[in-house]
Amino acid sequence: MYAASSVPQSTNIFQLVKQVNIVDVINHYNIAQLHQRGRRWVARCPLHGEKEPSFYVFPDGGWRCFGCGEYGDSTDLVAKVFGLRPIEAARMIARDFGIEVNNKPISLEARRKARQQAIEAAKKREIKQIFNQKRERALEVLSLIVRTTNRALAAGGYKAHYDLAELLHKTDYQEYLIGCLLSNNPDLQLLALTDPEVQQWLE
Ligand SMILES: [Zn+2]
Repeated sequence: MYAASSVPQSTNIFQLVKQVNIVDVINHYNIAQLHQRGRRWVARCPLHGEKEPSFYVFPDGGWRCFGCGEYGDSTDLVAKVFGLRPIEAARMIARDFGIEVNNKPISLEARRKARQQAIEAAKKREIKQIFNQKRERALEVLSLIVRTTNRALAAGGYKAHYDLAELLHKTDYQEYLIGCLLSNNPDLQLLALTDPEVQQWLE
């Protein structure tokens, strides 16, 4: 009936049960015979014997008896009428009005753990960011080298000075490294990034 999904996590059960209209609570448990008087409700006090009604319920969810001087909210009223502790009264209202109470107070240990997890997540994001920057840089340099080498090979420029087989072998390896960096496999990406040749461009 009363959805608790929009309630912040820190909200406790006493705040949750305030969602329930106090008039509904009083009627549900037959606590008093309420009569509307303007925006207020009035009844004979359920906490002390009286003939003339001096028990008032206000639109803000509060109540006060001008006969015996008692006052409070719906939890206080249910607690006093049924002789319960406030927490027991709040639980009863929550249960009977279908309020989900799944947010127990957060322990110190849970807070510490959540904070630690947040720090670790931030570190991971930072490492990932640095990793991606290095990967971009390595791809840039490797692509440039391979392009330049291929252009030179096409033009026949290096033939006189370099061992062609060695150059082709090197280009093959650089293309392999590019393939590793472009792959979705983190192990292959790391393998390429930690290659000594790649490392020297990243320093
Ligand atoms: Zn009273």
